[in-house]
Amino acid sequence: MNTRACALCATECPPPYRPPPPELSPDLDMRPGEPTRSTMQRWVQTCPGCGAVAPDLAGLEPQMIEVVESEAYLSLAARPAEATPFLRFAMICREGDRAGAMLQAAWTADDAEDDEAAIHYRRECAASWGEPDGVDSALRLIDILRRAGLLAAAEECAALIAEGAPDERAQSILDYQRARIAQGDTGRHLMGSALRPPARTPHVSHGKSSKKGFFSRLLGG
Ligand SMILES: [Zn+2]
Repeated sequence: MNTRACALCATECPPPYRPPPPELSPDLDMRPGEPTRSTMQRWVQTCPGCGAVAPDLAGLEPQMIEVVESEAYLSLAARPAEATPFLRFAMICREGDRAGAMLQAAWTADDAEDDEAAIHYRRECAASWGEPDGVDSALRLIDILRRAGLLAAAEECAALIAEGAPDERAQSILDYQRARIAQGDTGRHLMGSALRPPARTPHVSHGKSSKKGFFSRLLGG
């Protein structure tokens, strides 16, 4: 009765994957912490019937079958290979989902330690981000620009948010980002590091247990 089917070819498909909730801090670009983080390859499904890729094959727009059957889609050879499903989803998703798919492709490149591919996907992600629809979206965009090496654009975006009198939490993230940008730091950082109260920072252990405790308190757990 409750069978779901691919919207493009009617092949039966499973319901969307539900990852376990994160226990550790997300990155500043909101890549979730573990145990969610390492389930990423399951966030999208590949249809065994037509080769479409999406978090929910039943939710695709049926006319996208044209893209799925196109030479560009079929011959797509991503680097690293783990990025392929996310790039394919980026080709067939609604415009609003494209930036997210490109960011996930960048995360697969991070995991494969392919810096060049990660920068390339982050730049494509930033290009399709559009106008941020709030402070959180803008803060995320700053991190994407910074990690793509677009430091001037990241600082410009940060300066714009700073003008808007952000709340204390956003201000902490903003200060942390601007300090990283000033240092030319394009590396990965945790949200927990940006939100850690300054009084607690000197030589605190960076062990997993302290991060977990902090993040659980942050979430009111
Ligand atoms: Zn299909």
